[in-house]
Amino acid sequence: MRGGVAPCVTGGPPGSPFGSSSSDTVAVIHPTSLQHRGQESAGIVSTNGKRLLRHAGLGLVSGVFDQGSLDRIRGRVAVGHVRYSTTGSCTEGNCQPLMFSFAGGEVAVAHNGNLINAALLRRNYEKVGHIFQTTSDTEVIIHLLAKPTHQNKKNPLNHVLNHLQGAYSLLILFPDRMIAVRDPLGFRPLCLGRTKCGATVVASETKAFDMIDAEYVRDVKPGEIVTVSDEGVSSRRFGGDSNGRGAACIFEQIYFADPSSRVFGDNVHMVRSAMGARLAKEAPVEADLVVPIPTCGQCAAVGYARESGLPYGRAFTTSHYAGRSFILPTQSGRDLAVKMKLTVIKEAVKGQRLVVVEDSVVRGTTTRGKIGALRAAGAKEIHLRVASPPIRHPCYFGIDFPDQRKLIANNRDINGIRDFLAVDSLHYLSHEGMLACVSMPPEKYCTACFSGAYPMNVDEPVEKFAMERSQLRMFT
Ligand code: SF4
Repeated sequence: MRGGVAPCVTGGPPGSPFGSSSSDTVAVIHPTSLQHRGQESAGIVSTNGKRLLRHAGLGLVSGVFDQGSLDRIRGRVAVGHVRYSTTGSCTEGNCQPLMFSFAGGEVAVAHNGNLINAALLRRNYEKVGHIFQTTSDTEVIIHLLAKPTHQNKKNPLNHVLNHLQGAYSLLILFPDRMIAVRDPLGFRPLCLGRTKCGATVVASETKAFDMIDAEYVRDVKPGEIVTVSDEGVSSRRFGGDSNGRGAACIFEQIYFADPSSRVFGDNVHMVRSAMGARLAKEAPVEADLVVPIPTCGQCAAVGYARESGLPYGRAFTTSHYAGRSFILPTQSGRDLAVKMKLTVIKEAVKGQRLVVVEDSVVRGTTTRGKIGALRAAGAKEIHLRVASPPIRHPCYFGIDFPDQRKLIANNRDINGIRDFLAVDSLHYLSHEGMLACVSMPPEKYCTACFSGAYPMNVDEPVEKFAMERSQLRMFT
């Protein structure tokens, strides 16, 4: 769903990234471990074995949950979610996990990714009278699950999943079991862990495990269904690419995931640092100081400085209270967050020839603002080095840069981008250089936003607010 895209899912029995428990009470102990993956809403659904209980709302985890709401979470299994929307607006109704009752009982779904055929599936259901309660792509999963002809199949969930196209890492919670699913091409990460008391935990990133001293066991494989219940943990396949291809989102390594996490088999910091070192080889420059644009440029800047032999320094202080700017839903919100978040250390940059390292440049407006602040502080030269290739194409699989016209590298060559950003020189990491820094073979990654080579056909344009527009058409 992007319509409710759930960029992050976490779940598990007592000891999950959202909770740890003794006896039958789940207590949130590290609720912000995956907050970097979504800041629009937060929610937890728990089960006591018979009924599901949901608490969710708009805002950060710390704003949605207080001690009272945490105390009301009962049971032995819980699924949590923080939302960064890629389909559907930022509303209460789209908060995840979504929870519904149907003929098969109660079910909750937390989704990370974006379904590219959700609008089509939804239209078909609406034509035969289905009523949708959200504008999230995720809700079609519930309608597919509830359909009597699907329920009558020998394996309803396998059947349902084979109707979905796009990116989905899911946690599905029934009163008596939790199910983890990763789509056949494995766009988004999902990993399994184990706590010291032997409970199974599932999360988008291993950072969630580290914060509760749980051990990383393995990734959920593309096309795999893992079921956790009183009977233990079992696994089965529902799909997979017959040619051995995958579509692990390389932008997770470049920007999205936390540097401490292990994603798609690699530690994120080490990958970003290797990308910076490679960039130093591909685009050296005479300068006094290597500085990152915080915070995501830091790992690459460390690698650039090490490889180039130039000193590494700081040009900005960072406010830890402003949140993450790229994942905010509006441009004005992003601009304000950047302004509040970064302050130039004037004395550190005045008269200096700077190599400024950025992880990626999407729209370019925030980078231009930061470059302007360095100039105003007296930097003598600014050489921008970007530790990923130019982003020229929209993403339909769970990262919110779908409008190609807003991408700085769309219809601009490198000189045009350099002029727009007002830097003395500009170099991006090459496509080959990027792929040389990760450990899986190139055919296992999605690099479509850089190359335009999409891992699957996108038959219908994927619009963030397609579901809202469809509602408007129905009622006018
Ligand atoms: S298009 Fe880019 S951001 Fe989207 S899944 Fe592929 S690599 Fe990731």
